[in-house]
Amino acid sequence: MSAALSVRFTGPLERLSSRARRDIIDRARADEDVRVTAVVSGILTRVKREGDAALIALARELDGAALAKLEVPRAAIEAAKTNLDPDVRRALERTNENLATVHAAMMPKLVEVESEPGIVVGRRPDPLAAVGIYAPGGRAAYPSSVLMGVVPARVAGVPEIAVCSPPGKNGLPSDVVLAAAAIAGASRVFAIGGAQAIAALAFGTETVPRVDRIVGPGNAYVAEAKRQIAGSVGIDAPAGPSEILVIADETADPEHIARELAAQAEHDPEASCVALVLGDALAARVVEALGRVVVDRGEVVAASLGSRGAVLSIQSLDDAWPFAADYAAEHLMLLVREPRAALARVRHAGTVFLGDGSSVAFGDYMTGANHVLPTAGAGRSFSGLSTLDFVRFTTYQTVTREAAARMARDVSVLAEAEGLKNHAAAAAAFGASR
Ligand code: NAD
Repeated sequence: MSAALSVRFTGPLERLSSRARRDIIDRARADEDVRVTAVVSGILTRVKREGDAALIALARELDGAALAKLEVPRAAIEAAKTNLDPDVRRALERTNENLATVHAAMMPKLVEVESEPGIVVGRRPDPLAAVGIYAPGGRAAYPSSVLMGVVPARVAGVPEIAVCSPPGKNGLPSDVVLAAAAIAGASRVFAIGGAQAIAALAFGTETVPRVDRIVGPGNAYVAEAKRQIAGSVGIDAPAGPSEILVIADETADPEHIARELAAQAEHDPEASCVALVLGDALAARVVEALGRVVVDRGEVVAASLGSRGAVLSIQSLDDAWPFAADYAAEHLMLLVREPRAALARVRHAGTVFLGDGSSVAFGDYMTGANHVLPTAGAGRSFSGLSTLDFVRFTTYQTVTREAAARMARDVSVLAEAEGLKNHAAAAAAFGASR
């Protein structure tokens, strides 16, 4: 493809109007869809009341699938793995290993600390008992997302990992999703999609176990169902359309920048792709390169760049950091002479790609980092998926008799000040002649 692509925002960053800057940064979908909210609430009620029967009826209505069983038999899961294209299997196994290596090293550890002599406070990470991983499967299959959800849960030690993915016409999720579930080590797989999958995992049915946390991306129905059940069951941060912010200096190759923008833009017409590049000449070369690098899904790329894309020039890298902190990109790429030094300036990014060997595609599929990341500015308060999503902490404390005697008076003072005389008495008892 060689046609020029139009990019919505171009020119120097410093000349961007405050309105245009807001349009780039405020990318959360504002349109609260009342119809989706009502449909989802109806589905949740139906699944809560009717359990498996509702799930089977909804599979027929929404997925056109006549299900013999909601749970995918173990033999079908193993067969999908055995019959998988050997190249795809090798690549998935490599991703599985890299994810396991990285997530195991980053697993939170037990911590014990002595706050005063004889007083020890500990915090122990405990795996959740059961979790649900949603693997989208309506318009495309996402085996990589199965790995991104299941592997951290497995590494964290979660004993029950249930995967839900929509059934195709044959009543089963796609073969490659089943194979990925086998490779990643999911305990069970259910042929359930959409809001009804989230409902089944949140409430439990005759067949589907009730879980303690549900993670994974999905369409508007899945996202709304997670929003409605949040509070009774843990959920991850909402993952909306993809986005990238590239910060580049004169050492960057304009085609490299253009390819990274195009790669994120192909996800969704609502994907947000922004580049801040040093100097007007490099900015012009990036825009020009965009017309050359797109190899597929040209319409989606053009829609994304035309409605939300930005290639803006900066005079100094210092101009980039305040914008980057406000934007809080899902993917931030630093194509600069000293990327490690630049990393020290970064706040609020889902994940950061350093240097000219990096491509978001590597992180999406294989480095071992997680690709389930906060979007739409949620990176200001949320992090990407990790083992932290699959543990909870038990804290404990132990106080020796001697330390108790030393602490008793001050604790009684505070308890008296709060009017809790029984607390004061409980503490004061240790201060006596022990
Ligand atoms: P999906 O599995 O999320 O949704 C399919 C289900 O939606 C169906 O099974 C059906 O139950 C339900 N549904 C469809 N139409 C409905 C209706 N009219 N009423 C009620 N329910 C209905 O699959 P999808 O639709 O292909 O969407 C997947 C989404 O996940 C995409 O937006 C994709 O970009 C996103 N995704 C994100 C990431 C990430 O890491 N951020 C990764 C993979 C996919």
